Amino acid sequence: MIIVLKPEASEENQERIKKDIESFGLKVWVSRGEFRTIMGVIGDETPLRDMPLSLYPGVEKVIPILKPYRLVDREHKGEDTIITLSTGTAIGGKEIVVMAGPCSVENRESTLKIARSVKKAGAKALRGGAFKPRTSPYSFQGLGMEGLKILKEAREETGLAVVTEVTDPRNVGLISEYADILQIGARNMHNYDLLKEVGKVRKPVLLKRGLSSTVKEWLLAAEYILNQGNNEVMFCERGIRTFEDSTRFTLDISAVPLLKKTSHLPVIVDPSHAAGRKDLIPAISKAAIASGADGLLIEVHFDPLQALSDALQTITIAEFSQLMEELRALASVLGRKL
Ligand code: PEP
Ligand code: MN
Repeated sequence: MIIVLKPEASEENQERIKKDIESFGLKVWVSRGEFRTIMGVIGDETPLRDMPLSLYPGVEKVIPILKPYRLVDREHKGEDTIITLSTGTAIGGKEIVVMAGPCSVENRESTLKIARSVKKAGAKALRGGAFKPRTSPYSFQGLGMEGLKILKEAREETGLAVVTEVTDPRNVGLISEYADILQIGARNMHNYDLLKEVGKVRKPVLLKRGLSSTVKEWLLAAEYILNQGNNEVMFCERGIRTFEDSTRFTLDISAVPLLKKTSHLPVIVDPSHAAGRKDLIPAISKAAIASGADGLLIEVHFDPLQALSDALQTITIAEFSQLMEELRALASVLGRKL
């Protein structure tokens, strides 16, 4: 951390800053230039993060040097984190992993039917919400426990891994018994109690980006999980809120290479929630893969007209199979596998 002093800062001002910083066991050096004096803090500046240094008399500005996150940073771990699911599928390596399925688990028959079809088309995980965080309290809220049992049956029959959302910290243990990947939805990215709770279990976590969150806030949300001991976190870009209203959200494609550069954790893209309309899914799925994503999360239903949630952004099995063919060709050009 560097502290730039005002031209009129007194020796007394300087001494006070020095004394308070040193009380945390840190060292301070002072450099007197012709016009300005600057103070540098040596050591881990974490304890100073909540110190209102810019309010101290004589301080012009404070420039932090260290990033606020540490465990998720590529500097902390040079090589890519590869998350191996209990089904054997590895996320974050050479393979592009596609997770597909309905927005919500609706009933046993439709879930099994979709699971078999997406498996046949090459998906490695079945997505489906049992606990649904819906914008309106009058919309379908999910089957809850019954939905988890259906997902488990689909997993046992098809061998697909299951990814499902956890919305309540009290359900983390229960959902961990049914899911291979715990999904933290966009609306819960800032729910720090939930993040801490999924940090305590040994289950991979798919952390969606908050509707209006910056990449830095998202990295810090992941830091909450790693900080509790769970290192198996993957980011999921699902679009952010902008002024543009022709799509449901705006897919921030640049977040993919940015995260790959900044962090060692895998990055998944959800084109369905980003676009909110099915006609754009193929193109933005390809853009996601081309930008370096490690996988996709796509809403698929054999009859989107019957889907109880997010029908407008749900593609059919035939459209999904076609897309998988095209993605396979793209993956091989990129030196990846699908
Ligand atoms: C979902 O995946 O069904 C979902 C609710 O997504 P998001 O949290 O991104 O809105
Ligand atoms: Mn959905």
